[in-house]
Amino acid sequence: MKFFAYRVDQAAGLAIETGGEQKGLDESDPHYPGALDQLLSRGALALSQAADTIAAHGTPVDLTHVTILPPVMPSKIICVGLNYRDHAEETGLELPDSPTVFSRWASSIVGADQPLVRPAVSGRLDFEGELAVIIGTRGRHIPRERALDHVGGYSCFNDGSVRDYQLRTPQWTLGKNFDQSGSLGPALVTPDALPPGAAGLAIRTLLNGEVMQASTTDQLLFDVGTLIALISEVLTLEPGDVIATGTPSGVGFTRQPPVWMKAGDQCEVEIEGIGCLRNPVRDEILRSA
Ligand code: MG
Repeated sequence: MKFFAYRVDQAAGLAIETGGEQKGLDESDPHYPGALDQLLSRGALALSQAADTIAAHGTPVDLTHVTILPPVMPSKIICVGLNYRDHAEETGLELPDSPTVFSRWASSIVGADQPLVRPAVSGRLDFEGELAVIIGTRGRHIPRERALDHVGGYSCFNDGSVRDYQLRTPQWTLGKNFDQSGSLGPALVTPDALPPGAAGLAIRTLLNGEVMQASTTDQLLFDVGTLIALISEVLTLEPGDVIATGTPSGVGFTRQPPVWMKAGDQCEVEIEGIGCLRNPVRDEILRSA
């Protein structure tokens, strides 16, 4: 099942895709089942009941005429660096024994079709197409063999990075957290619609229609289950939390000459069976305080 969160006339809505079309319900309808974050926290049954309710009572939604929101607004976005063999090699860094983990705040991401913002202080805004794991079931110390039971869905992620800010210190936090520099969406796809752990899916990033990254999710050094087990050794994973699983080779800063995103560009992250996360790019409009 594929769910889309959206906003229309200030009202939150939830849509499903059935037979290539989207049907949805928004808050103004008494049958509106609630936001995906809330549904995830009530369990997989709540999601399937919401889909049934939308199928029965929803009306067609043209996603080009509404604002698509990130499927969840996560309290935690846990990002994994250097998790594709080819990307680790192109950066010249050693293959890691354990994943490099950093965090993003929700203020750094937008939904599909919303502009990514190139900051006024840097021209080095780069793309990173990634598989996003959206946690469905709360857990701590989750064993590897049960880790996939905690997945509520998958989505596409663009871990947009401001490279000079990212790489001028060993901690990447600033360069990964510029306002509206990354994106999540457009859909949450439930695990039953995909191979276990979303393994073996084609993933591509296109900039202005040109393929910049192309790989498959079975190139992950640390797979989805391993990441959930490792991260939950440290912290409690909550419904709606997002794990961005890392990016393949082909990012802009490793190219000769380097490629940076600029105003007017369009960046797309496509994952087989999940969808295409498309964002235009615009320049920051400077406002003080
Ligand atoms: Mg990344």
